[in-house]
Amino acid sequence: MPEQRLESEVAVVGAGPAGIIVALELARAGHRVLLIESGGERFDPQRQELGETVGTDPHHDAMSLATRRQIGGASNLWGGRCVPFDPIDFEDRELVGEARWPVGYDDVAPYMERAAEWCRCGEPVFNTAEVPELAGRTLVPGWKDGDVRASDLERWSLPTRFGTVYREVLHRTPGLRLATGLTCTEVVPAEGGSEHGGRKVDHLVARHADGSRVEVRAQRYVLAAGGLESTRLLFASRRRDPDGLGNHSGHLGRWYMAHVEVRVGRVRFDTPPEATLYSHERDREGVYVRRRFSFDPELQRTEWLPNSVLWLVNEEVGNAAHGSGVLSFVYLMLASPLGGRFVAEGIRQHHLQALEPPRLRDHFRNVLRDLPGTAAFAFRFAYERFLRRGRKVPGFFVRSPANTYPLCYHGEHLPHRQSRVEPTDELDALGMPRLRTHLHFSDLDVAAVRRAHELLDRSLREQGLGRVEFLYDDVEGAVREQLFGGYHQSGTTRMAADPADGVLDANLAVHGFDDLFVASSSAFPTSSQANSTFMLTAFAVRLADHLSADLEGQGARPAVEVAA
Ligand SMILES: Cc1cc2nc3c(=O)[nH]c(=O)nc-3n(C[C@H](O)[C@H](O)[C@H](O)COP(=O)(O)OP(=O)(O)OC[C@H]3O[C@@H](n4cnc5c(N)ncnc54)[C@H](O)[C@@H]3O)c2cc1C
Repeated sequence: MPEQRLESEVAVVGAGPAGIIVALELARAGHRVLLIESGGERFDPQRQELGETVGTDPHHDAMSLATRRQIGGASNLWGGRCVPFDPIDFEDRELVGEARWPVGYDDVAPYMERAAEWCRCGEPVFNTAEVPELAGRTLVPGWKDGDVRASDLERWSLPTRFGTVYREVLHRTPGLRLATGLTCTEVVPAEGGSEHGGRKVDHLVARHADGSRVEVRAQRYVLAAGGLESTRLLFASRRRDPDGLGNHSGHLGRWYMAHVEVRVGRVRFDTPPEATLYSHERDREGVYVRRRFSFDPELQRTEWLPNSVLWLVNEEVGNAAHGSGVLSFVYLMLASPLGGRFVAEGIRQHHLQALEPPRLRDHFRNVLRDLPGTAAFAFRFAYERFLRRGRKVPGFFVRSPANTYPLCYHGEHLPHRQSRVEPTDELDALGMPRLRTHLHFSDLDVAAVRRAHELLDRSLREQGLGRVEFLYDDVEGAVREQLFGGYHQSGTTRMAADPADGVLDANLAVHGFDDLFVASSSAFPTSSQANSTFMLTAFAVRLADHLSADLEGQGARPAVEVAA
């Protein structure tokens, strides 16, 4: 017997970016919404522990670094980089095997404007040609876009901590009820089908921290618990589906994708160093943007290249041989006991990794050599990043007098069936089976890194602007050592037109269900070059519109017609 019953028109599980957007969009459209969040206003390590996985996966970040059980979810940790998927991501490509999007780019693009408003990253334009104040300059003088482009932009949000920025609105929007400290542990399907022949959810089971049981009933249910947790909830719902709900064709938990993010090359420009646009710029609204190298879609098709980008980065802060007072200062701050206050722990650990053991004396020497410059940087950065209200500078960049910069490769992680998560027999404190991850990267993922660098090198040499060098003799070995993921969780409840090919349909409903939806990047059949959140927010807005129209009975219009 449940100790408590809750009822609403729509029940949304998880108050991360996706859940907050779906809930607020629906409540503003006049619907009654119950938003169930496992965490609370503040971080609680005991809550966080509920999401820990089992075993060791050499390619996976600890869940404590990759997720956050708190209102706002992982947006409490995120950097705020906002990038859309590209039209080519939605094309049928042999490169991605049998993964096929059941929607096109044009189905989602209309939602990007509202996604950008939610993320607070300015206008949804992502190329300098559409931003007049940036269009007149190029990354290096004389650069011309061709096979390789240097005009695509990433935008940066505040960074928007969804739980903080929308806290007030969550509490005062009529029709919306936020229930915190309540963890959904099972989706219970009804026996028999609906009048349309589809299956229906009977109720959700949720639990307070003390284990007491709450029964949640609604007309529509949206799982927005994050990529792995939404997948886990479906696996845990095995009362009538022993292999997990939505696992009708064996795809639940499969096709787990992250991104291929590695640093194995360096660019040397032959242009005047002071003219290189190596850092952030701001558009006319003051939003931070940054240029990146990307690859023309036709080149991607002919080269069989996964969608990928390259951008300029600082020298490794931990390697004092860089000789920069600013970089050494940053290293010393991050390595200090206060380091965890400045950036998310995962990012801090990433910065502290150095090839050589850190030599503190050398770092101090770098700082002392350039004390005035370092002090000026420290005051400016402290103000722009931590003290200034509203929009914060997303990072810092140090100009290279030699005009040479390491490159970060950020590429599509190709879908592989053996890259997966699976439920185990180990239960968390509320009785949910914990997951084990097997994040797998293939030789194609690795080979793409070399090719992308070679193509940028070719373009620079043809234009007489510079060249690219590899940092390692064994490039592929270095790539393999750096392959790591968990922040961008995609693929494990992938969408597919045919139930035989995936878990969700084109409207994010679990195949076969009329009333159960998943709002998560786990729905993405491919991973793009783009970090996942911006596209996820566009899908969340689209889902809210679909549900609203559906609930209002306007002919129960699907956002996309789903084949019967
Ligand atoms: C360090 C870091 C940096 C990142 N930087 C970027 C970036 O720059 N750009 C980008 O695009 N992305 C970035 N990301 C990824 C981004 O944070 C996620 O894509 C985004 O937060 C996903 O939103 P979500 O709502 O799907 O899930 P989440 O943010 O994971 O939110 C899920 C919510 O559901 C709750 N929940 C979980 N299980 C249950 C349950 N059973 N019952 C009730 N509630 C539950 C959780 O407590 C949480 O609040 C970063 C992530 C990390 C960790």
